[in-house]
Amino acid sequence: MQIKKYLLPIIMLSIFETVAVVLWLTKDNLFYLFNFSYIGLSISLGIFLFIRKYKHARRIVQLLVGLYMLVYLGLICNENMQIEGFWYYLFTGVFEAATIHYAVAKIFGPLLFGRGWCGYACWTAMVLDFLPYKIPKNPRKNIGWIRYITFAASFIFVAALFLAKVGNIERIMFWAFIIGNIVYYAVGIALAFAFKDNRAFCKYICPITVFLKPMTYFSLMRITCNKEKCINCGKCKRVCPMNVDVTDNSRNRLNGTECIKCMECVMNCPKGAL
Ligand code: SF4
Ligand code: SF4
Ligand code: SF4
Repeated sequence: MQIKKYLLPIIMLSIFETVAVVLWLTKDNLFYLFNFSYIGLSISLGIFLFIRKYKHARRIVQLLVGLYMLVYLGLICNENMQIEGFWYYLFTGVFEAATIHYAVAKIFGPLLFGRGWCGYACWTAMVLDFLPYKIPKNPRKNIGWIRYITFAASFIFVAALFLAKVGNIERIMFWAFIIGNIVYYAVGIALAFAFKDNRAFCKYICPITVFLKPMTYFSLMRITCNKEKCINCGKCKRVCPMNVDVTDNSRNRLNGTECIKCMECVMNCPKGAL
């Protein structure tokens, strides 16, 4: 049983190494080998630490991956991994880092691991999770429709640059990455304090959830509740940062597509039912 548990980080590392080697060979670019090996190693280390019951395991992965993507890929390599960067590379027909990143982490990957990106890698949430409202203090608000506006705005912004045949879009994308991140952090921090909820930005504003939520509905990896062990104490729901009703095993569970796999519910369940 003990050995079986340690298979999980090895499996995760193998999946990432497979992606790394396939992309390296098919795209003839060593960057992919380095990139996906680094991310795979970071995630596998996190799973290993989680199995060892280290309480900051998730935060360590979040910082390792988030800082790498923000500082190295974004600021040093000038790769816009925000949603406007995705539209930009999509319009130019270039299947490179940003489009591959979206395909793996945010569009097709969630069919396997749900919103693992949001719990373990996102550089926006990496900062928001340092704020004091880890457990939301107020009930959820009915303003999730804002995400569709930010999603459409990002698309229109990049489409307009192409339609207007603006020159040097690559440079604009770099500045869009810097300014976009500053805006995301400012809005995210302001909302966290206004709503007393670190993840308010994720719940109402983030445009990427337009991809993440429908794919996560079909996610293979889900947290489920063993009804025979559960005593209905409600602790899992009280500690959940995303207001998920994790005791309901159906795919239509309340806020089911919001689960970020943070494992707070699992770690806090007094009966080990999750
Ligand atoms: S919802 Fe958006 S901001 Fe929040 S963690 Fe996910 S990708 Fe990051
Ligand atoms: S506490 Fe549990 S249900 Fe809530 S987001 Fe984290 S893993 Fe998902
Ligand atoms: S914390 Fe555990 S025992 Fe309590 S309601 Fe949730 S699953 Fe059931």
